[in-house]
Amino acid sequence: MKNIQDVSLEGKRVLIRVDFNVPLDEHFNITDNSRILAALPTIKKVISCGGKAILMSHLGRPKDSFEEKFSLKHIVKQLSKLIDRTVAFSSDCIGESTTADISKMENGDVLVLENLRFYKEEKLGGLKFAKQLSELADIYINDAFGTAHRAHASTAIIADYFPNTKYFGFLLSGEIESLEKALTTPKRPFTAIIGGAKISGKIDVIKSLFDKVDNLIIGGGMAYTFAKACSGNIGKSLVEEEKIALAKQLIEDAKNRGVNLLLPSDSVNANDFKNDANTNITDIKNIADEYMGLDIGPESIASFSSIIKNSKTIIWNGPMGVFEMENFCKGTKEIGEAICEATENGAFSLVGGGDSVAAVKKFGFADKVSYISTGGGAMLEYLEGKELPGVVAIQKS
Ligand code: AMP
Repeated sequence: MKNIQDVSLEGKRVLIRVDFNVPLDEHFNITDNSRILAALPTIKKVISCGGKAILMSHLGRPKDSFEEKFSLKHIVKQLSKLIDRTVAFSSDCIGESTTADISKMENGDVLVLENLRFYKEEKLGGLKFAKQLSELADIYINDAFGTAHRAHASTAIIADYFPNTKYFGFLLSGEIESLEKALTTPKRPFTAIIGGAKISGKIDVIKSLFDKVDNLIIGGGMAYTFAKACSGNIGKSLVEEEKIALAKQLIEDAKNRGVNLLLPSDSVNANDFKNDANTNITDIKNIADEYMGLDIGPESIASFSSIIKNSKTIIWNGPMGVFEMENFCKGTKEIGEAICEATENGAFSLVGGGDSVAAVKKFGFADKVSYISTGGGAMLEYLEGKELPGVVAIQKS
């Protein structure tokens, strides 16, 4: 991995693509600073070696021009506190004013550039925009795993302007190493747990995991489409009618490839999508017409947990139920507990995807799994076997 461990950074202008796409409240306070924390090792390395750290990122989804709520100036105070030094801010990310701000930097200084997505060229992967960004620095580091699956100007295109001075940051190289560890040399049994609302976004990953895993556990909203595919009555549960045939096919494929595909056998149901709705627990294929399944039931928890506790490599993406509601969080919580127990007993566990990470934090498991990925979409694409443009751009010579 071309990371910055042994690179001479002293006096160099180092342009770091970070992922500071953090959630803000209505007063522009950061409500979850995990992404900033994740970028700190690389930033600290650059400044401690006497480099000038120029940080670029996107924030939110602006419509191609300045919008106050998406300004990266809102993160400056927090970053400054976390690295315990003054952090400067440039009100643009290219052009004369930014060049002037950079020329004022001393070795070890930190400058945050304004939101890249105030220029539509960022997402379009504009060559001219990428070149303008590249002219700001001597060295380019990509440390934004969350956007590594996008061929944007700052995540991929820019790398061509640094043929000999482009590197992975510690976060990005750590993410790739963890995924590689799970996928290329997994200790067995290898179990993947896929949950979340819908099958649609996860079909490719499920198919590609069939080539790699011993056990594939399906939970969350998508399990009900599988239950319907097995002629179950699923009441008002979430279903993707157009994916029923595919769900049948996936069950068949798993059999043919010798993969142990585990679907929930029972379900916690509610007569409304509300925490205080009336609930019951039934066979997943026998849900009353006026009820919807919102969590996996106790029998499923027990059988999934026993498989997980016996696994040596575990990947988890997507919650087992509507974990945001107290009455439907048990499946997700207990599956998380089983993963922590397996990890304690020596398994390697990798958790990714916004909602599973939120669940892991909510239930206090963050320190008890081996690795928490910062990129849901990027992780899924990597698991699907796709090349990530942000990674390839650094690797190619
Ligand atoms: P995803 O973004 O596809 O990973 O989906 C995550 C969301 O799926 C979470 O907000 C969960 O509340 C939701 N979810 C999980 N299980 C169910 C279910 N049985 N019915 C409806 N939504 C669900």
